[in-house]
Amino acid sequence: MFDALTRQPDDPLLALIGLYRKDERPGKVDLGVGVYRDETGHTPIFRAVKEAEKRLHETQDSKAYVGPEGDLVFVDRLWTLVGGDTINRSHLAGVQTPGGSGALRLAADLIRQMGGKRIWIGLPSWMNHASIFKAAGLETAGYPFFDVPSQTVLFDTMMSALQGASAGDAVLLHAGCHNPTGGVISEAQWLEIAAVVAERGLLPLVDLAYQGFGRGLEEDVVGLRHLIGIVPETLIAVSCSKSFGLYRERTGAIFAVTTSSSSADTVRSNLAGLARTSYSMPPDHGAAIVRTILSDADLARDWKEELETMRLRISGIRQSLAEGLRDRWQALGAIAAQEGMFSLLPLAEADVMRLRNEHGIYMPGSGRINIAGLKTAEVGDVIDKLKNL
Ligand code: PMP
Repeated sequence: MFDALTRQPDDPLLALIGLYRKDERPGKVDLGVGVYRDETGHTPIFRAVKEAEKRLHETQDSKAYVGPEGDLVFVDRLWTLVGGDTINRSHLAGVQTPGGSGALRLAADLIRQMGGKRIWIGLPSWMNHASIFKAAGLETAGYPFFDVPSQTVLFDTMMSALQGASAGDAVLLHAGCHNPTGGVISEAQWLEIAAVVAERGLLPLVDLAYQGFGRGLEEDVVGLRHLIGIVPETLIAVSCSKSFGLYRERTGAIFAVTTSSSSADTVRSNLAGLARTSYSMPPDHGAAIVRTILSDADLARDWKEELETMRLRISGIRQSLAEGLRDRWQALGAIAAQEGMFSLLPLAEADVMRLRNEHGIYMPGSGRINIAGLKTAEVGDVIDKLKNL
């Protein structure tokens, strides 16, 4: 019966990791994989995470099931980070999920369950967005988001596309640190988006996967908080993978901002039911770590400090890259003001292959680069190689 299956294409980013590993050239540079790297090229475990793990090791006395909703103290503390005091908490339904991907999938399943059919996604977006939504049975539609040659957010075109969306459609928005473009939506633009979404009767699904990597922990959720203040119902998919460096621990949450406590209760029961028939319950360890950190003022302070160091490192590399590239490509001066780990270079696939084959500089065919994959000492060399294409 397995003969009925056809081989699926390998994930291009995972294939790229394999090629990079095999490359024996000493100066090779990996700008492909989407994880934070420090100045030594290492993806560190936060100090606060290590300390929280130590405490959990000493105090945790059972591995009995937690439940499909996961760790509700984690969910509550995480919401404080995301939403602050913006809404009445009795109107909020939150459920722990296996990472941001699990949150997005649960959101898509919920949308299907309530009769939703279509979700609008920015072009381009994280590759997995469309795949997750389609796997859940949603139809996807694209709104223009970013022009790569000019490195600009296509705000007006995006707004016109959203004006054409039908009531009941969902709209995926990145809270910030856009993957793959780094393109920034200003506070004023968030207000405009919120107005159109509310007026057209759309359901926003906001993907928050990089809080603290853009302008700062609070600053990175300003737009999202405006949105939930204006639009009556919103879904928010949160990933702790980057902000807490917990990638493989699969830690995240899905939140639904609703209009009443009874609506929140119904949504929560649906999310729990969907989790139950999918993966039953989320893994505990990562959420227990985040709960421990966010419940202890000293650990939380240390975590914030370390996150800020990461943010500043990325921002510094952005400034140097932009400075070095803008005289050859004026548009790339925009890299300095973009946010998060990624930018999308206006390269033809042949240029991407030349960089890989001739110079050992690895990025996917799209030209997306992980800024955090660069060490300060490598920036000058990468700039030279890009300029000489
Ligand atoms: N959303 C975006 C925009 C992402 O870039 C990622 C991870 N690359 C995710 C969601 C999912 O993250 P997680 O590893 O927590 O599933």
